[in-house]
Amino acid sequence: MLGLSLREAAVALRRGQVSPTELCQKCLSFIKETTILNAYITVTEDIALKQAEEAEKRFSRGQPLGELDGIPIAIKDNFSTTGIETTCASRMLQGYIPPYNATVVQKLLDQGAVLMGKTNLDEFAMGSGSTDSIFGPVKNPWSYSKRYREKRAHCRHVAEEDSDWVITGGSSGGSAAAVSAGTCYAALGSDTGGSTRNPASHCGVVGLKPTYGLISRHGLIPLVNSMDVPGILTRCVDDAATVLGVLAGHDPKDSTTIQDHFEPFKLPDVIDVSKLCIGIPKEYHAPGLSTETLSLWSKAADLLEDAGAKVIEVSLPHTAYSIVCYHVLCTSEVASNMARFDGLEYGHRSDIDDSTEAMYAATRRQGFNDVVRGRILSGNFFLLKQNYEHYFLKAQKVRRLIAEDFVKVFSSGVDVLLTPTTLGDAVPYLEFIQEDNRTRSAQEDVFTQCANMAGLPAVTVPVGLSSRGLPLGLQFIGRGFSEQQLLTIAKWLEKQMDFGALEFYKVIENGGIPQLHSKSASSL
Ligand code: GLN
Repeated sequence: MLGLSLREAAVALRRGQVSPTELCQKCLSFIKETTILNAYITVTEDIALKQAEEAEKRFSRGQPLGELDGIPIAIKDNFSTTGIETTCASRMLQGYIPPYNATVVQKLLDQGAVLMGKTNLDEFAMGSGSTDSIFGPVKNPWSYSKRYREKRAHCRHVAEEDSDWVITGGSSGGSAAAVSAGTCYAALGSDTGGSTRNPASHCGVVGLKPTYGLISRHGLIPLVNSMDVPGILTRCVDDAATVLGVLAGHDPKDSTTIQDHFEPFKLPDVIDVSKLCIGIPKEYHAPGLSTETLSLWSKAADLLEDAGAKVIEVSLPHTAYSIVCYHVLCTSEVASNMARFDGLEYGHRSDIDDSTEAMYAATRRQGFNDVVRGRILSGNFFLLKQNYEHYFLKAQKVRRLIAEDFVKVFSSGVDVLLTPTTLGDAVPYLEFIQEDNRTRSAQEDVFTQCANMAGLPAVTVPVGLSSRGLPLGLQFIGRGFSEQQLLTIAKWLEKQMDFGALEFYKVIENGGIPQLHSKSASSL
Protein backbone atom coordinates (compact mmCIF):
# COMPACT_ATOMS: atom_id res chain seq x y z
CA MET A 1 0.00 0.00 0.00
CA LEU A 2 2.80 2.44 0.76
CA GLY A 3 4.00 2.18 -2.81
CA LEU A 4 0.77 3.47 -4.32
CA SER A 5 0.09 6.96 -5.55
CA LEU A 6 -2.62 9.02 -3.85
CA ARG A 7 -5.05 8.22 -6.65
CA GLU A 8 -4.31 4.51 -6.47
CA ALA A 9 -4.73 4.54 -2.70
CA ALA A 10 -8.07 6.34 -3.12
CA VAL A 11 -9.22 3.60 -5.51
CA ALA A 12 -8.05 0.87 -3.11
CA LEU A 13 -10.07 2.52 -0.33
CA ARG A 14 -13.16 2.70 -2.51
CA ARG A 15 -12.86 -0.91 -3.53
CA GLY A 16 -12.50 -1.93 0.10
CA GLN A 17 -9.06 -3.45 -0.53
CA VAL A 18 -7.85 -1.52 2.48
CA SER A 19 -9.67 0.47 5.15
CA PRO A 20 -8.76 4.04 6.17
CA THR A 21 -7.66 2.73 9.58
CA GLU A 22 -5.41 0.08 8.08
CA LEU A 23 -3.88 2.63 5.73
CA CYS A 24 -3.35 5.05 8.59
CA GLN A 25 -1.77 2.38 10.78
CA LYS A 26 0.55 1.31 8.00
CA CYS A 27 1.74 4.88 7.53
CA LEU A 28 2.10 5.37 11.29
CA SER A 29 4.23 2.29 11.63
CA PHE A 30 6.36 3.40 8.72
CA ILE A 31 6.80 6.81 10.30
CA LYS A 32 8.16 4.99 13.35
CA GLU A 33 10.50 2.87 11.25
CA THR A 34 11.91 5.93 9.58
CA THR A 35 12.41 8.22 12.56
CA ILE A 36 16.09 8.47 11.62
CA LEU A 37 15.02 10.80 8.81
CA ASN A 38 13.74 13.37 11.32
CA ALA A 39 11.04 14.28 8.80
CA TYR A 40 8.33 14.94 11.40
CA ILE A 41 8.42 17.39 14.29
CA THR A 42 5.07 16.19 15.62
CA VAL A 43 3.38 12.90 14.76
CA THR A 44 -0.35 13.29 15.37
CA GLU A 45 -1.07 9.60 15.91
CA ASP A 46 -4.24 9.94 17.99
CA ILE A 47 -5.75 12.57 15.73
CA ALA A 48 -4.90 10.52 12.64
CA LEU A 49 -6.48 7.35 14.03
CA LYS A 50 -9.62 9.25 15.00
CA GLN A 51 -9.88 10.88 11.59
CA ALA A 52 -9.33 7.50 9.93
CA GLU A 53 -12.10 6.02 12.05
CA GLU A 54 -14.47 8.77 10.93
CA ALA A 55 -13.48 8.17 7.32
CA GLU A 56 -14.13 4.49 7.89
CA LYS A 57 -17.70 5.25 8.98
CA ARG A 58 -18.29 7.32 5.86
CA PHE A 59 -16.95 4.52 3.67
CA SER A 60 -19.12 1.92 5.38
CA ARG A 61 -22.18 4.13 4.79
CA GLY A 62 -21.08 4.33 1.16
CA GLN A 63 -20.59 8.10 1.48
CA PRO A 64 -16.91 8.96 1.16
CA LEU A 65 -16.36 12.71 0.81
CA GLY A 66 -14.00 12.93 -2.11
CA GLU A 67 -10.74 11.65 -3.43
CA LEU A 68 -8.83 12.63 -0.31
CA ASP A 69 -11.14 10.87 2.12
CA GLY A 70 -9.07 8.53 4.30
CA ILE A 71 -5.79 9.56 2.67
CA PRO A 72 -2.79 10.15 4.98
CA ILE A 73 -1.19 13.56 4.47
CA ALA A 74 1.44 15.66 6.27
CA ILE A 75 1.70 19.40 6.81
CA LYS A 76 4.81 21.56 7.05
CA ASP A 77 5.14 22.96 10.55
CA ASN A 78 4.66 26.56 9.44
CA PHE A 79 0.92 26.10 8.78
CA SER A 80 -1.40 26.75 11.71
CA THR A 81 -3.26 23.68 12.93
CA THR A 82 -5.98 23.94 15.56
CA GLY A 83 -4.87 22.35 18.83
CA ILE A 84 -1.62 21.04 17.34
CA GLU A 85 1.72 22.63 18.17
CA THR A 86 3.02 24.79 15.32
CA THR A 87 6.68 25.67 15.79
CA CYS A 88 8.20 26.88 12.50
CA ALA A 89 11.15 24.81 13.83
CA SER A 90 11.97 27.77 16.06
CA ARG A 91 12.38 28.18 19.79
CA MET A 92 10.33 31.34 19.39
CA LEU A 93 7.17 29.35 18.69
CA GLN A 94 7.89 26.17 20.63
CA GLY A 95 4.78 25.24 22.55
CA TYR A 96 2.51 27.49 20.45
CA ILE A 97 -0.88 25.85 19.91
CA PRO A 98 -2.85 27.78 17.28
CA PRO A 99 -6.57 28.31 17.86
CA TYR A 100 -7.33 28.03 14.14
CA ASN A 101 -6.48 26.03 11.03
CA ALA A 102 -4.79 27.53 8.01
CA THR A 103 -7.33 27.64 5.17
CA VAL A 104 -5.41 24.97 3.24
CA VAL A 105 -5.34 22.67 6.26
CA GLN A 106 -9.07 23.15 6.80
CA LYS A 107 -9.76 22.39 3.15
CA LEU A 108 -7.80 19.13 3.33
CA LEU A 109 -9.57 18.08 6.52
CA ASP A 110 -12.97 19.01 5.07
CA GLN A 111 -12.24 16.50 2.32
CA GLY A 112 -11.53 13.77 4.86
CA ALA A 113 -7.73 13.75 4.64
CA VAL A 114 -6.00 12.10 7.61
CA LEU A 115 -3.36 14.27 9.27
CA MET A 116 -0.24 12.23 10.10
CA GLY A 117 1.79 15.08 11.52
CA LYS A 118 3.70 18.30 11.16
CA THR A 119 6.94 18.17 9.19
CA ASN A 120 10.39 19.57 9.85
CA LEU A 121 11.84 22.65 8.09
CA ASP A 122 14.47 25.33 8.28
CA GLU A 123 13.60 27.81 11.02
CA PHE A 124 10.76 30.04 9.73
CA ALA A 125 11.37 28.46 6.27
CA MET A 126 14.61 30.39 5.89
CA GLY A 127 16.94 28.01 4.16
CA SER A 128 17.42 25.50 1.42
CA GLY A 129 18.63 22.41 3.20
CA SER A 130 16.26 21.70 6.11
CA THR A 131 19.37 21.70 8.24
CA ASP A 132 18.66 24.83 10.29
CA SER A 133 15.91 23.53 12.57
CA ILE A 134 15.93 23.47 16.37
CA PHE A 135 14.82 19.85 16.00
CA GLY A 136 17.92 18.92 14.01
CA PRO A 137 18.40 18.41 10.28
CA VAL A 138 16.23 16.26 8.00
CA LYS A 139 18.00 13.35 6.31
CA ASN A 140 17.33 12.44 2.72
CA PRO A 141 15.79 8.94 2.50
CA TRP A 142 17.92 8.25 -0.55
CA SER A 143 21.02 8.39 1.66
CA TYR A 144 19.97 4.95 2.84
CA SER A 145 19.83 3.31 -0.57
CA LYS A 146 22.32 0.54 -1.14
CA ARG A 147 23.53 2.21 -4.30
CA TYR A 148 24.38 5.46 -2.55
CA ARG A 149 26.00 3.64 0.36
CA GLU A 150 28.22 1.59 -1.94
CA LYS A 151 29.38 4.63 -3.89
CA ARG A 152 30.16 6.55 -0.75
CA ALA A 153 32.10 3.67 0.77
CA HIS A 154 34.87 4.57 -1.69
CA CYS A 155 35.12 8.17 -0.50
CA ARG A 156 37.89 8.25 2.01
CA HIS A 157 37.08 11.66 3.45
CA VAL A 158 33.85 10.41 5.00
CA ALA A 159 35.16 9.37 8.34
CA GLU A 160 32.05 8.49 10.22
CA GLU A 161 29.41 6.38 8.56
CA ASP A 162 26.70 7.93 10.66
CA SER A 163 27.26 11.36 9.20
CA ASP A 164 27.35 10.04 5.66
CA TRP A 165 23.95 11.21 4.53
CA VAL A 166 22.74 13.85 2.11
CA ILE A 167 20.44 16.78 2.74
CA THR A 168 16.83 16.80 1.59
CA GLY A 169 17.01 20.34 0.32
CA GLY A 170 14.69 22.85 1.83
CA SER A 171 13.04 24.43 3.46
CA SER A 172 10.18 21.91 3.09
CA GLY A 173 12.60 18.99 3.50
CA GLY A 174 10.47 17.23 6.10
CA SER A 175 7.50 17.18 3.73
CA ALA A 176 9.64 15.95 0.83
CA ALA A 177 11.22 13.18 2.91
CA ALA A 178 7.81 12.18 4.32
CA VAL A 179 6.35 11.73 0.82
CA SER A 180 9.48 10.22 -0.68
CA ALA A 181 9.90 7.60 2.04
CA GLY A 182 6.24 6.60 1.80
CA THR A 183 4.92 7.79 5.16
CA CYS A 184 2.05 9.75 3.56
CA TYR A 185 0.54 10.30 0.11
CA ALA A 186 0.86 14.07 -0.13
CA ALA A 187 2.29 16.87 1.94
CA LEU A 188 2.01 20.63 2.12
CA GLY A 189 5.14 22.72 1.84
CA SER A 190 5.63 26.42 1.31
CA ASP A 191 7.55 28.09 -1.49
CA THR A 192 9.03 31.57 -1.26
CA GLY A 193 12.19 31.10 -3.31
CA GLY A 194 12.10 27.40 -4.11
CA SER A 195 11.35 25.70 -0.81
CA THR A 196 8.89 23.21 -2.28
CA ARG A 197 10.60 22.49 -5.59
CA ASN A 198 14.13 22.23 -4.26
CA PRO A 199 13.50 19.46 -1.70
CA ALA A 200 11.05 17.72 -4.04
CA SER A 201 13.80 17.52 -6.63
CA HIS A 202 16.41 16.25 -4.15
CA CYS A 203 14.02 13.63 -2.75
CA GLY A 204 12.61 12.34 -6.05
CA VAL A 205 9.04 13.60 -5.74
CA VAL A 206 6.82 16.08 -7.58
CA GLY A 207 6.74 19.62 -6.16
CA LEU A 208 4.23 22.23 -7.33
CA LYS A 209 4.52 25.94 -6.62
CA PRO A 210 1.18 27.36 -7.76
CA THR A 211 0.62 30.86 -9.12
CA TYR A 212 0.71 33.52 -6.40
CA GLY A 213 -2.89 34.13 -5.37
CA LEU A 214 -4.29 30.79 -6.51
CA ILE A 215 -4.11 29.27 -3.03
CA SER A 216 -4.80 31.00 0.27
CA ARG A 217 -1.89 31.94 2.54
CA HIS A 218 -4.17 32.45 5.53
CA GLY A 219 -2.58 30.56 8.41
CA LEU A 220 0.75 30.08 6.67
CA ILE A 221 3.18 31.84 8.98
CA PRO A 222 4.72 34.39 6.62
CA LEU A 223 8.26 34.61 5.39
CA VAL A 224 7.94 37.01 2.42
CA ASN A 225 4.26 37.85 2.00
CA SER A 226 4.67 39.06 -1.56
CA MET A 227 6.21 35.75 -2.67
CA ASP A 228 4.97 33.01 -0.29
CA VAL A 229 2.69 30.32 -1.67
CA PRO A 230 1.64 26.99 -0.20
CA GLY A 231 3.32 24.19 -2.15
CA ILE A 232 2.17 20.65 -2.91
CA LEU A 233 4.43 17.59 -2.70
CA THR A 234 3.22 14.29 -4.15
CA ARG A 235 4.55 11.15 -5.77
CA CYS A 236 3.18 11.90 -9.22
CA VAL A 237 1.84 14.80 -11.24
CA ASP A 238 -1.75 13.51 -11.26
CA ASP A 239 -1.76 13.63 -7.46
CA ALA A 240 -0.52 17.22 -7.45
CA ALA A 241 -3.48 18.15 -9.69
CA THR A 242 -5.87 16.38 -7.31
CA VAL A 243 -4.58 18.22 -4.24
CA LEU A 244 -4.52 21.51 -6.14
CA GLY A 245 -8.20 20.99 -7.00
CA VAL A 246 -9.00 20.83 -3.29
CA LEU A 247 -6.88 23.80 -2.23
CA ALA A 248 -7.23 26.39 -4.99
CA GLY A 249 -9.69 29.26 -5.03
CA HIS A 250 -10.73 32.49 -3.38
CA ASP A 251 -10.45 32.86 0.38
CA PRO A 252 -12.12 35.82 2.07
CA LYS A 253 -9.36 35.60 4.69
CA ASP A 254 -6.62 36.26 2.10
CA SER A 255 -7.26 39.33 -0.01
CA THR A 256 -4.53 38.36 -2.46
CA THR A 257 -6.39 35.25 -3.61
CA ILE A 258 -8.19 35.16 -6.95
CA GLN A 259 -11.78 36.30 -7.10
CA ASP A 260 -12.76 33.93 -9.92
CA HIS A 261 -14.09 30.46 -9.36
CA PHE A 262 -11.41 27.78 -9.78
CA GLU A 263 -12.54 24.68 -11.61
CA PRO A 264 -10.67 21.55 -10.47
CA PHE A 265 -9.31 19.51 -13.38
CA LYS A 266 -8.10 16.02 -14.16
CA LEU A 267 -5.14 15.52 -16.43
CA PRO A 268 -5.67 13.58 -19.65
CA ASP A 269 -4.05 10.17 -20.11
CA VAL A 270 -3.21 10.74 -23.74
CA ILE A 271 -1.22 13.93 -24.08
CA ASP A 272 -0.27 15.67 -27.30
CA VAL A 273 2.65 18.07 -26.96
CA SER A 274 3.09 18.62 -30.70
CA LYS A 275 1.43 22.03 -30.77
CA LEU A 276 3.47 23.42 -27.91
CA CYS A 277 6.32 25.83 -27.93
CA ILE A 278 8.88 25.12 -25.21
CA GLY A 279 11.39 27.79 -24.20
CA ILE A 280 14.87 26.94 -22.95
CA PRO A 281 16.21 30.00 -21.11
CA LYS A 282 19.86 30.39 -22.02
CA GLU A 283 20.68 32.08 -18.70
CA TYR A 284 19.87 28.82 -16.92
CA HIS A 285 23.11 27.28 -18.19
CA ALA A 286 24.46 28.53 -14.90
CA PRO A 287 27.94 28.00 -13.47
CA GLY A 288 27.99 24.86 -11.36
CA LEU A 289 25.32 23.04 -13.37
CA SER A 290 26.23 19.36 -13.15
CA THR A 291 26.84 17.46 -16.38
CA GLU A 292 24.25 14.90 -15.31
CA THR A 293 21.57 17.55 -14.85
CA LEU A 294 22.55 19.15 -18.14
CA SER A 295 22.25 15.87 -19.99
CA LEU A 296 18.81 15.12 -18.51
CA TRP A 297 17.73 18.64 -19.44
CA SER A 298 18.89 18.10 -23.04
CA LYS A 299 17.27 14.69 -23.12
CA ALA A 300 13.92 16.15 -22.06
CA ALA A 301 14.21 18.89 -24.69
CA ASP A 302 15.01 16.27 -27.35
CA LEU A 303 12.05 14.14 -26.32
CA LEU A 304 9.73 17.12 -26.61
CA GLU A 305 11.15 17.97 -30.01
CA ASP A 306 10.85 14.37 -31.20
CA ALA A 307 7.21 14.46 -30.14
CA GLY A 308 6.64 17.44 -32.42
CA ALA A 309 6.94 20.35 -29.99
CA LYS A 310 8.80 23.44 -31.04
CA VAL A 311 11.79 23.87 -28.72
CA ILE A 312 13.51 27.25 -28.85
CA GLU A 313 16.16 29.08 -26.92
CA VAL A 314 14.87 32.16 -25.10
CA SER A 315 16.46 34.84 -22.98
CA LEU A 316 15.49 36.07 -19.51
CA PRO A 317 18.22 38.70 -19.24
CA HIS A 318 17.61 39.79 -15.65
CA THR A 319 17.87 36.29 -14.17
CA ALA A 320 21.32 36.92 -12.75
CA TYR A 321 20.01 39.71 -10.50
CA SER A 322 17.39 37.55 -8.90
CA ILE A 323 19.40 36.19 -5.97
CA VAL A 324 20.70 39.55 -4.77
CA CYS A 325 17.35 41.24 -5.37
CA TYR A 326 15.61 38.47 -3.42
CA HIS A 327 18.01 39.01 -0.55
CA VAL A 328 16.99 42.65 -0.20
CA LEU A 329 13.25 42.02 -0.58
CA CYS A 330 13.19 38.90 1.58
CA THR A 331 15.09 40.40 4.49
CA SER A 332 13.05 43.62 4.33
CA GLU A 333 9.79 41.71 4.59
CA VAL A 334 11.31 39.44 7.25
CA ALA A 335 12.29 42.46 9.36
CA SER A 336 8.71 43.63 9.28
CA ASN A 337 7.12 40.19 9.73
CA MET A 338 9.29 39.14 12.63
CA ALA A 339 8.59 42.33 14.59
CA ARG A 340 5.50 40.68 16.05
CA PHE A 341 7.60 38.11 17.93
CA ASP A 342 8.49 40.40 20.80
CA GLY A 343 7.75 38.19 23.78
CA LEU A 344 4.71 40.27 24.67
CA GLU A 345 2.15 39.57 22.01
CA TYR A 346 3.57 36.42 20.50
CA GLY A 347 6.16 33.78 21.08
CA HIS A 348 8.75 32.87 23.63
CA ARG A 349 9.42 35.41 26.40
CA SER A 350 12.75 35.72 28.15
CA ASP A 351 12.65 36.03 31.94
CA ILE A 352 15.16 38.87 31.82
CA ASP A 353 13.07 41.81 33.01
CA ASP A 354 15.53 44.61 33.80
CA SER A 355 13.77 46.79 31.27
CA THR A 356 11.35 46.33 28.37
CA GLU A 357 14.22 46.79 25.91
CA ALA A 358 16.34 44.20 27.71
CA MET A 359 13.43 41.77 27.69
CA TYR A 360 12.86 42.30 23.94
CA ALA A 361 16.52 41.84 23.15
CA ALA A 362 16.89 38.70 25.26
CA THR A 363 13.66 37.25 23.91
CA ARG A 364 14.78 37.64 20.34
CA ARG A 365 18.31 36.45 21.01
CA GLN A 366 17.00 33.31 22.70
CA GLY A 367 14.08 32.75 20.38
CA PHE A 368 15.64 33.11 16.92
CA ASN A 369 18.62 31.38 15.36
CA ASP A 370 21.50 33.29 13.74
CA VAL A 371 19.93 33.10 10.30
CA VAL A 372 16.68 34.75 11.36
CA ARG A 373 18.46 37.40 13.44
CA GLY A 374 20.84 38.11 10.55
CA ARG A 375 17.95 38.61 8.16
CA ILE A 376 16.14 40.92 10.58
CA LEU A 377 19.27 43.04 10.87
CA SER A 378 19.83 43.17 7.09
CA GLY A 379 16.21 43.98 6.44
CA ASN A 380 16.12 46.80 8.94
CA PHE A 381 19.27 48.19 7.36
CA PHE A 382 17.70 48.16 3.88
CA LEU A 383 14.59 49.85 5.25
CA LEU A 384 16.40 52.70 6.97
CA LYS A 385 15.25 56.07 5.67
CA GLN A 386 18.62 56.79 4.05
CA ASN A 387 18.83 53.31 2.45
CA TYR A 388 15.25 52.69 1.45
CA GLU A 389 15.46 54.10 -2.04
CA HIS A 390 18.89 52.78 -2.81
CA TYR A 391 18.14 49.20 -1.73
CA PHE A 392 14.47 48.43 -1.22
CA LEU A 393 12.99 50.50 -4.02
CA LYS A 394 15.74 49.53 -6.42
CA ALA A 395 15.14 45.84 -5.65
CA GLN A 396 11.44 46.34 -6.30
CA LYS A 397 12.28 47.78 -9.71
CA VAL A 398 14.62 44.91 -10.54
CA ARG A 399 11.89 42.52 -9.47
CA ARG A 400 9.60 44.15 -12.02
CA LEU A 401 12.23 43.70 -14.74
CA ILE A 402 12.59 40.01 -13.85
CA ALA A 403 8.82 39.57 -14.07
CA GLU A 404 8.71 41.45 -17.39
CA ASP A 405 11.31 39.09 -18.88
CA PHE A 406 8.78 36.31 -18.44
CA VAL A 407 5.91 38.39 -19.84
CA LYS A 408 7.94 39.08 -22.99
CA VAL A 409 8.85 35.43 -23.50
CA PHE A 410 5.31 34.18 -22.92
CA SER A 411 3.78 36.83 -25.15
CA SER A 412 6.14 35.80 -27.96
CA GLY A 413 4.30 32.48 -28.15
CA VAL A 414 6.25 30.32 -25.71
CA ASP A 415 3.85 28.10 -23.74
CA VAL A 416 6.15 26.88 -21.05
CA LEU A 417 9.80 27.04 -20.00
CA LEU A 418 11.89 23.94 -19.33
CA THR A 419 14.77 24.32 -16.87
CA PRO A 420 16.70 22.31 -14.31
CA THR A 421 15.35 22.53 -10.75
CA THR A 422 18.71 22.47 -8.99
CA LEU A 423 22.34 22.58 -10.10
CA GLY A 424 22.92 18.94 -9.25
CA ASP A 425 21.97 16.20 -6.81
CA ALA A 426 21.75 16.66 -3.04
CA VAL A 427 25.05 17.31 -1.29
CA PRO A 428 26.28 15.49 1.81
CA TYR A 429 25.32 17.21 5.04
CA LEU A 430 28.91 17.70 6.14
CA GLU A 431 29.70 19.53 2.91
CA PHE A 432 26.53 21.60 3.02
CA ILE A 433 27.14 23.02 6.46
CA GLN A 434 30.57 24.33 5.46
CA GLU A 435 28.77 27.23 3.74
CA ASP A 436 26.65 29.90 5.40
CA ASN A 437 22.88 29.95 4.92
CA ARG A 438 22.99 32.79 2.41
CA THR A 439 25.59 31.20 0.14
CA ARG A 440 23.69 27.93 0.24
CA SER A 441 20.44 29.61 -0.81
CA ALA A 442 22.28 31.42 -3.60
CA GLN A 443 23.43 28.02 -4.93
CA GLU A 444 20.29 26.03 -4.31
CA ASP A 445 17.71 28.60 -5.49
CA VAL A 446 19.25 29.84 -8.76
CA PHE A 447 16.65 28.13 -10.93
CA THR A 448 13.64 28.42 -8.64
CA GLN A 449 13.67 31.94 -7.26
CA CYS A 450 12.68 33.88 -10.40
CA ALA A 451 9.28 32.18 -10.52
CA ASN A 452 8.54 33.58 -7.04
CA MET A 453 9.68 37.05 -8.07
CA ALA A 454 7.22 36.90 -10.96
CA GLY A 455 4.48 35.01 -9.08
CA LEU A 456 4.40 32.31 -11.77
CA PRO A 457 3.49 28.63 -11.39
CA ALA A 458 6.30 26.08 -11.57
CA VAL A 459 6.57 22.36 -11.04
CA THR A 460 9.47 19.97 -10.59
CA VAL A 461 9.30 16.40 -11.86
CA PRO A 462 11.81 13.69 -10.91
CA VAL A 463 13.52 12.51 -14.09
CA GLY A 464 16.46 10.32 -13.15
CA LEU A 465 19.19 9.33 -10.74
CA SER A 466 22.70 10.75 -10.60
CA SER A 467 25.71 8.46 -10.71
CA ARG A 468 25.68 8.59 -6.90
CA GLY A 469 22.17 7.17 -6.94
CA LEU A 470 20.39 10.40 -5.95
CA PRO A 471 17.31 11.89 -7.64
CA LEU A 472 17.42 14.76 -10.13
CA GLY A 473 14.46 16.89 -11.20
CA LEU A 474 13.53 19.20 -14.05
CA GLN A 475 11.30 22.23 -13.76
CA PHE A 476 8.57 23.69 -15.95
CA ILE A 477 7.57 27.34 -15.45
CA GLY A 478 4.28 28.51 -16.96
CA ARG A 479 2.18 31.63 -17.45
CA GLY A 480 0.22 32.84 -14.44
CA PHE A 481 -2.77 30.59 -13.70
CA SER A 482 -1.79 28.07 -16.39
CA GLU A 483 -1.57 25.16 -13.91
CA GLN A 484 -3.65 22.86 -16.08
CA GLN A 485 -1.35 23.21 -19.07
CA LEU A 486 1.75 23.17 -16.87
CA LEU A 487 0.79 19.96 -15.11
CA THR A 488 -0.29 18.33 -18.36
CA ILE A 489 3.16 18.87 -19.87
CA ALA A 490 4.77 17.77 -16.60
CA LYS A 491 2.74 14.56 -16.69
CA TRP A 492 3.86 13.93 -20.24
CA LEU A 493 7.52 14.27 -19.23
CA GLU A 494 6.99 12.15 -16.14
CA LYS A 495 5.74 9.32 -18.38
CA GLN A 496 8.60 9.65 -20.84
CA MET A 497 11.34 9.69 -18.23
CA ASP A 498 9.70 6.90 -16.23
CA PHE A 499 11.20 7.71 -12.85
CA GLY A 500 8.37 5.69 -11.32
CA ALA A 501 10.25 2.42 -11.45
CA LEU A 502 12.98 3.94 -9.32
CA GLU A 503 10.82 5.49 -6.66
CA PHE A 504 12.21 4.99 -3.24
CA TYR A 505 9.18 3.68 -1.40
CA LYS A 506 8.36 1.17 -4.16
CA VAL A 507 11.76 -0.43 -3.90
CA ILE A 508 11.44 -0.50 -0.13
CA GLU A 509 8.23 -2.39 -0.26
CA ASN A 510 9.09 -4.72 -3.10
CA GLY A 511 12.41 -5.56 -1.50
CA GLY A 512 10.60 -6.12 1.75
CA ILE A 513 13.55 -4.62 3.52
CA PRO A 514 15.06 -2.01 4.54
CA GLN A 515 14.56 -0.82 8.02
CA LEU A 516 15.87 2.65 7.59
CA HIS A 517 16.91 2.65 11.20
CA SER A 518 19.36 -0.20 10.60
CA LYS A 519 21.80 1.49 8.29
CA SER A 520 23.23 -1.67 6.77
CA ALA A 521 19.97 -3.17 5.59
CA SER A 522 19.18 -0.88 2.69
CA SER A 523 18.30 -2.64 -0.52
CA LEU A 524 18.06 -0.06 -3.30
N1 GLN B 1 16.15 29.54 0.27
C1 GLN B 1 15.33 30.70 0.29
C2 GLN B 1 15.45 31.39 1.61
O1 GLN B 1 16.17 30.95 2.42
C3 GLN B 1 13.91 30.33 -0.01
C4 GLN B 1 13.20 29.73 1.13
C5 GLN B 1 11.75 29.40 0.86
O2 GLN B 1 11.31 29.25 -0.28
N2 GLN B 1 10.98 29.30 1.94
O3 GLN B 1 14.85 32.37 1.86
